Amino acid sequence: MQTRRTLLAIGAAGLASSCAATRGFSNGLQRDLGRTPPASTRLAPVRVSRDRLIRIDVGLRPFRPSGFRVEREALGDKVLVHNYGHGGGGITLSWGTAKLAVDLGFDPARPDCAVLGCGAVGLATARLLQERGARVRVYAKDLPPNTTSNVAGAQWWPASVYDNDAVTPAYLEQHFQAARFAFRRYQSLVGDAYGVNWETNYSLSNRPGSSYPAAEGDPMRALVVNQRDLNPLEHNFPRPCVRRFDTMMIETPLYLRRMELDVRQAGGEIVVRSFDDIAQVRALPEHTIFNCTGLGAGRLFGDTEIMPVRGQLAILLPQPEVDYNVIAREGYMFGRRDGVVLGGTFERGEWSLEPDPAQIERILTGHANIFRAM
Ligand SMILES: Cc1cc2nc3c(=O)[nH]c(=O)nc-3n(C[C@H](O)[C@H](O)[C@H](O)COP(=O)(O)OP(=O)(O)OC[C@H]3O[C@@H](n4cnc5c(N)ncnc54)[C@H](O)[C@@H]3O)c2cc1C
Repeated sequence: MQTRRTLLAIGAAGLASSCAATRGFSNGLQRDLGRTPPASTRLAPVRVSRDRLIRIDVGLRPFRPSGFRVEREALGDKVLVHNYGHGGGGITLSWGTAKLAVDLGFDPARPDCAVLGCGAVGLATARLLQERGARVRVYAKDLPPNTTSNVAGAQWWPASVYDNDAVTPAYLEQHFQAARFAFRRYQSLVGDAYGVNWETNYSLSNRPGSSYPAAEGDPMRALVVNQRDLNPLEHNFPRPCVRRFDTMMIETPLYLRRMELDVRQAGGEIVVRSFDDIAQVRALPEHTIFNCTGLGAGRLFGDTEIMPVRGQLAILLPQPEVDYNVIAREGYMFGRRDGVVLGGTFERGEWSLEPDPAQIERILTGHANIFRAM
């Protein structure tokens, strides 16, 4: 599938019509495009500088080449339902895979349920269980704000969740069902209370022919809203090919805090606890156990497929006038209310949570080049 990752890797996105007029464009300056976009179409550039840096975040995406795992199995006389391994799309898909997991495992006759993990996936699973009448206890080593989910960008789009050559048609169908459910569910959360809002994305490139974010004929195309290829007078980006589309954005610190509150207000208990092995999980008092431990599932349940894909983010001071996103070969920029998020690293198998200064420099320089030219 076309993902934020593959887009960054090949540096390709765009369109046939408006790109053709600007053949020969090379160094990214407005004058090379031979046009002056009217003020009404000009977007405010991000002010990229080290002085404006408020923090660096490093997170490990819980990636499985064959996609997320939602599966039911017996654990002695208990029921264990796995729901983990969402790669770079776990905020997006959380409500959808939660529904698949709850459909698989919840038995109203046995309403006591344990949810392992308190990231976006565990919290959505806990809430859907509560909506069906379950009594839920969440167990987790770390709570928000100390989860991977807090670090996410987080654009509503299931990007970098699997490798094309490792998935089955059955998985892709499940992926689409999860995305579709989550797409509707997040729409019901739009607003300040949950920090979910609609924003416009601009995907930039020098060449036409991209299928990003979803190719024609791909079922996921139905979840892409308001997509249009812009002509050169409709934007002030220093690239000839610009495609716009709208997605929801999730302000994760606020969203996760609110989700945690919702679980507690609906009678759920949240217990800070680390599990070292399956025997400890099996000894829990609850009959049905939902495993939403993300990357932690590898060690705890012996999944050898799951691996970290490290992402590093440079967060700049908020700029309220920057209420849009940019995706380009240099990385991505998400204009969030709580900060301007600059990202774009995908480092497979890298476990370190220490920022790499060279990568952060690359992210800052790449984005500075784009926004200086606007
Ligand atoms: C830089 C970056 C950018 C991203 N951008 C996006 C984006 O734009 N859109 C998007 O949808 N997704 C994005 N993601 C991906 C997203 O963050 C993850 O897919 C998602 O957070 C996974 O959620 P989770 O609940 O499964 O895992 P986590 O948030 O990691 O939560 C796991 C929970 O399990 C607990 N746990 C683990 N092991 C144990 C154990 N042994 N005992 C007890 N508790 C345990 C943890 O303490 C934690 O509470 C991004 C990720 C990164 C790193």
